[in-house]
Amino acid sequence: MTAKTLEPPADVEAATVEVHDVHKWYGTHRVLNGIDLTVRPGEVTVILGPSGSGKSTLLRVINHLEKPEIGHVSVNDELIGVKRQGDRLKELSERAILAQRGRIGFVFQNFNLFPHLTVLDNVAAAPVATGRLGKPEARELARELLDRVGLADKTDAYPRQLSGGQQQRVAIARALALRPGVILFDEPTSALDPELVGEVLAVIKDLASTGTTLVIVTHEIGFAREIADRVVFIDGGRIVEQGPPSEVLDKPRHERTRDFLSKVL
Ligand code: ADP
Ligand code: MG
Repeated sequence: MTAKTLEPPADVEAATVEVHDVHKWYGTHRVLNGIDLTVRPGEVTVILGPSGSGKSTLLRVINHLEKPEIGHVSVNDELIGVKRQGDRLKELSERAILAQRGRIGFVFQNFNLFPHLTVLDNVAAAPVATGRLGKPEARELARELLDRVGLADKTDAYPRQLSGGQQQRVAIARALALRPGVILFDEPTSALDPELVGEVLAVIKDLASTGTTLVIVTHEIGFAREIADRVVFIDGGRIVEQGPPSEVLDKPRHERTRDFLSKVL
């Protein structure tokens, strides 16, 4: 692993994420059933839960890719979504949502890189598209970020020429290019061959050590124990329990948490 320790950029402020009583359903299927969650600046929160329990939906609600039917999410006190029934409806404009989303990094299970762009342009694209940087500045930043994730020699490659672990490190550099206050990871290593998991976790660990707010859905329990300030166990669209890893992972209070851990450990 060649990644250098990431320095927190001076212009980035770690974000607070608050999820208030969020309910989300698809048709009659209730996927989130009253989620309350606060993630403080610089905190690393790991979300665990069985398949179908609503983990990805929760991340998508935080990133405004889905709108909750009830409840709201705020990032740095800015409201997203719809307030509780009975309260005055307050929805953000599409423009405000885009601005908010620009401050939230999202790293997907399947990397989602642009196949037709080089590694460098994958990382440089968003700051240019959002008008934050000119092309030369964005490319300079991209080089810097790729160096930090150990991929300085891959700038001219295309995604298909890279291993899964390298592609995911490009995806992390791409998320960092927007200088996000919080980065959401949705099972960032579950599509990787086992021998490539470590290099991606090492990069995430470096991010954690620089005080970026991170919310990570993962089944890597050892990793969660190492880096999480807080572990949140979700089942059936509800938070079953949450707390420091030493409690939730080592002394789970709920049968469902114990059952889940016995299957993934
Ligand atoms: P997890 O990430 O914990 O596996 P998800 O949040 O992806 O769970 O999904 C929770 C539930 O919502 C699942 O039953 C899934 O089938 C359903 N679901 C997710 N997205 C949609 C959608 N766009 N339309 C309908 N059902 C969905
Ligand atoms: Mg998921």
